[in-house]
Amino acid sequence: MIVLMKYGATQAEIDGVCEAIRSFQLEPLVLPGDRTAVGIPSAIPQEVRQPLEDLLSTLPGVSKVTQVSRPYKQASLEWQPQPTVVRIGSVEIGPRTFQVMGGPCSIESEEQFRQAALAVKRAGARILRGGAFKPRTSPYAFQGLAEEGLRIMRAVADEVGLLTVSEVMSGDAVPLVAKYVDILQIGARSMQNYPLLVEAGLSGKPVFLKRGPAATVDEFLLAAEYILHRGNPNVILCERGVVPLDRSYVRNTLDLSVVPVLKAHTHLPVFVDPSHGTGFARYVPAMARAAVVAGADGLMVEVHPNPKAALSDGSQALTPEGFAELMEDVRRLAEFVGREA
Ligand code: PEP
Ligand code: MN
Repeated sequence: MIVLMKYGATQAEIDGVCEAIRSFQLEPLVLPGDRTAVGIPSAIPQEVRQPLEDLLSTLPGVSKVTQVSRPYKQASLEWQPQPTVVRIGSVEIGPRTFQVMGGPCSIESEEQFRQAALAVKRAGARILRGGAFKPRTSPYAFQGLAEEGLRIMRAVADEVGLLTVSEVMSGDAVPLVAKYVDILQIGARSMQNYPLLVEAGLSGKPVFLKRGPAATVDEFLLAAEYILHRGNPNVILCERGVVPLDRSYVRNTLDLSVVPVLKAHTHLPVFVDPSHGTGFARYVPAMARAAVVAGADGLMVEVHPNPKAALSDGSQALTPEGFAELMEDVRRLAEFVGREA
């Protein structure tokens, strides 16, 4: 439930609304803005909804009371009608821009990562990706370089001049990963790791949250809600493909339709990952271009200096040349949809 105050509502009127909410054993959250709003971030018992709405509507200084119709609250457009803009250094993520995160699936060595970073920078992207803690299906597959990988990432990104994003797999590891990266990535497999979501929320770092391969929109936005609920407003959503009907053709099915659906229900920025979303480099450019036109705010794309030699996800990695070509297309399409890339 959101109580929108009138323009110029006094502090006493705002306090009155908060008191009324507390009298129902609920905690108010004051949202400053053009006009003050007071939200109730927790679940409201069914039997209390109507009497509470009736009471709040009559209080002085109140303009409108809105019931949030979905289970997530702070992630909803009712809670915040204007799009969230995430600012990291000079990079802005939001409705005015189109940002691309590029880089290899895994940080494999300083040399491999530097080459990837230079390719990403040269092509004009602003954010460098790379995994140091890898969630691999098999325990025998390359698991990542762990802290050494993060050290390489920070050093190379600073040298080349890019922001960084890397995955964190457990709540305990959040402080370590947060020490090295600009954006914490929560992978598809971890989307419902609630202790991790809580720690990411408490960290205050921007969080790049990937949709689970079988997650509904409600589940996805409720995962984001865990982070918002801990006072961290900088959440970026990422569609990366859902369980496919036919695995002999694609690794996942990129659900591009979720982009306009998310835009209709949340103010959070939405990215698309066509690399994991298809699993094959040859399908990545088409889906990346489609994502720009579908209304996404950015892309995450895997790029490797030598995909054939990659220690993970080589089949879906673009070469530096392929990535540069894609970035040309992205810039043209971004301009077409009125964004700066
Ligand atoms: C990744 O970005 O390398 C990754 C493991 O992605 P996802 O969590 O989407 O599978
Ligand atoms: Mn990968």
